[in-house]
Amino acid sequence: MDRILLHICCAPCSVAVIEQLKEEGLSPTGFWYNPNIHPYQEYKARRDTLIEYAKLIGLPLHIKEEYGLDAFTKAVSPNIEQRCNYCYAVRMEETARAAKNLGFSAFTTSLTVSPYQNHELIHKAAQAAAKRHGVAYRPYDFSPRFRQGQAKARELALYMQKYCGCIYSEEERYQSKIQKDLNRFEKENFFENK
Ligand code: SF4
Repeated sequence: MDRILLHICCAPCSVAVIEQLKEEGLSPTGFWYNPNIHPYQEYKARRDTLIEYAKLIGLPLHIKEEYGLDAFTKAVSPNIEQRCNYCYAVRMEETARAAKNLGFSAFTTSLTVSPYQNHELIHKAAQAAAKRHGVAYRPYDFSPRFRQGQAKARELALYMQKYCGCIYSEEERYQSKIQKDLNRFEKENFFENK
């Protein structure tokens, strides 16, 4: 059975991906490296859920531990709109490096199960990293199985995240609430300068 290193962004996304790889006769090993997830309690919840899920299904798993709020925000703050480029690049770079060091000839990522992620950018970053480290990148589109995988993750009661990962995406999640509060405080004359 061919082995493949699978970068895993979170346990729920990995459910359908692992099933598909196994159906194709591959033997996946999971790899956790996601310094883009903030704040720490969210990072920990996603990482620990994956550890538990890997134990449940007998998936070999490597963890590259790095909670990266400081480095991440420093790197992307000059151009927050383009932050996903950096986010994909660092994760694919580390996965390609791990594949090489751990003796895998190929890697892929669970990121492309999500229709909300930019698949083109992910493939581009992964292919460049693969070339640098002398391993192959398998450019899957797992997204046709997205709904099915999420439903199964809910059945398994896995922790399901509510936003993409970085602190900026957490802010986006609450954008309408933030605006609503602003409007209310303005209306109620709560601001100091009023
Ligand atoms: S929105 Fe998601 S993919 Fe983009 S930088 Fe934030 S965590 Fe990474």
